[in-house]
Amino acid sequence: MKKLFLIIGAPGSGKTTDASIIAEKNSDKIVHYSTGDMLRDEVASGSELGKTIDSFISKGDLVPLEIVINTIISAIKNAPKDVVIIDGFPRSVEQMKELDRLLQSESEIELVSVIEARVSEAVARERILGRAADAAPGEQRSDDNEEVFVSRMKIYTDPLEEIQNFYTDKSLLKVIDAERTLEVIVDEMEAFVKSSI
Ligand code: AMP
Repeated sequence: MKKLFLIIGAPGSGKTTDASIIAEKNSDKIVHYSTGDMLRDEVASGSELGKTIDSFISKGDLVPLEIVINTIISAIKNAPKDVVIIDGFPRSVEQMKELDRLLQSESEIELVSVIEARVSEAVARERILGRAADAAPGEQRSDDNEEVFVSRMKIYTDPLEEIQNFYTDKSLLKVIDAERTLEVIVDEMEAFVKSSI
């Protein structure tokens, strides 16, 4: 039985960094995948699928449902540990509903919690544009720029309330204030995950 935690958060919320640290510290039982990283890995492979994915990522648009669902379901199923943290999913109401539908017929995966790493738009903007400015030449993400940031933020915010309500009704939503220091955020998130498994 796989125990699944999802982490959602605005671009710049630090969700990938938080989850990577938690998985690294608990590598005997927890594994972490970032939806964005898995999609970027496919782009880096140079495959046809990667080219399709890149055409969405570089504009800050959501990658189509089927591609994202296949990516995360295969990551969960192939995960070498029983506790799986995935960040960056769901990012739309249709993704949320599709996962819910799949989980109903999937006895091997239990969704334990959806963690929202919450930051204001101002903090998100500052972190993303700071990350862009600090990146070494050639290491810059194609989507870390002002114009794409605005669109990514809107795409994140538009379905957020419906996603929050859906998981609140199922008593699965956990909100974490992600404007604090990395250490404090990671400590709270790690304690929450460990107390829930
Ligand atoms: P991130 O690394 O989480 O900031 O994601 C970077 C980009 O990957 C997003 O702007 C989307 O283009 C794509 N992406 C990541 N997660 C998803 C998702 N759940 N659904 C669709 N596209 C996604």
